[in-house]
Amino acid sequence: MATNPITSTVDFERDGNQHGWLELPYSRDDSAWGAVMIPIAVVKNGRGPTALLTGGNHGDEYEGPIALLKLARSLEPGAISGRVIIIPALNYPAVMAGTRVSPIDGVNMNRAFPGLRDGSVTQMIADYLQRTILPLSDALVDIHSGGKTMMFSPFSAYHKLPDAALQERCRAGAAAFGAPITLELVELDAAGMLDTAVEELGKVFVGTELGGGGTATTETVAIAERGIQNMLAHFGLTERTAGATAPDTRPLHMPEPGCFLIAEHGGLYEPLADLGTTVASGQAVGQIHHPDEPSREPVAYHAKTAGLVIGRSHKVLVVPGDFLGLIAHDMP
Ligand SMILES: [Zn+2]
Repeated sequence: MATNPITSTVDFERDGNQHGWLELPYSRDDSAWGAVMIPIAVVKNGRGPTALLTGGNHGDEYEGPIALLKLARSLEPGAISGRVIIIPALNYPAVMAGTRVSPIDGVNMNRAFPGLRDGSVTQMIADYLQRTILPLSDALVDIHSGGKTMMFSPFSAYHKLPDAALQERCRAGAAAFGAPITLELVELDAAGMLDTAVEELGKVFVGTELGGGGTATTETVAIAERGIQNMLAHFGLTERTAGATAPDTRPLHMPEPGCFLIAEHGGLYEPLADLGTTVASGQAVGQIHHPDEPSREPVAYHAKTAGLVIGRSHKVLVVPGDFLGLIAHDMP
């Protein structure tokens, strides 16, 4: 198998705090021998576990990049035992364009794994992560938010896995993150996700959805920063504060497909239940208006299951197939 073309300017085996780049050659009209430069920081102190922290997997989700840029500048090697690899803007071209997917190739980083050596820019970044960075890592925290089109009640997440012991390690990690909610998340399609790539290697994966709408708030950035510190302690990189108790978090799950609400009409979506609302099965949670037919009654969307509304469409103008809402249940 041909070697991935990315070279790293940081030495993963060297102690200290290093800032550098993953350089991916990218020849194009405005830079014939140019490269895509993906920032990376490595903080290492002796032996110990390796945690990989990523943000900007999607380019319009901001808590991860903000919290990880702050961490990369401030984390002292002496404060940890082991190694922390920080990639604040994993899909760097998407982050700099403020778009979910890469403006170069239109590829969604979180559907590109395990990547492709001879593929497009995004596929080659995924291939480098898969073959070079994931093998160095014991656990990965990938910080997402809802992006420009979705909004979530802040939660950390893990998945149901065939390996029960690994699932429990992922669940414990997600709970230790300390977001207000810990969700046992069922994906619409898990193929190609970084989550799946990490889990298939038998390593701990913790994901998050911390807000959305293409913005960040003091609250959601604080959850990300606190969560990262909690993760470093949970994975044994830093000392736990004496007397610290486990973070308070509400465990939720998605036992049925009806937890997702998907649009079957186009139009203007009016939410009728805000995030954090407990709804009954059959309760109207939103309705779609028809601006092209003012006399037509809006189409109501009803909860297919009782539970807590933790996700909703951030955009109002929707088309059939758009995500409208996510309803989760308290863990029994
Ligand atoms: Zn995302």
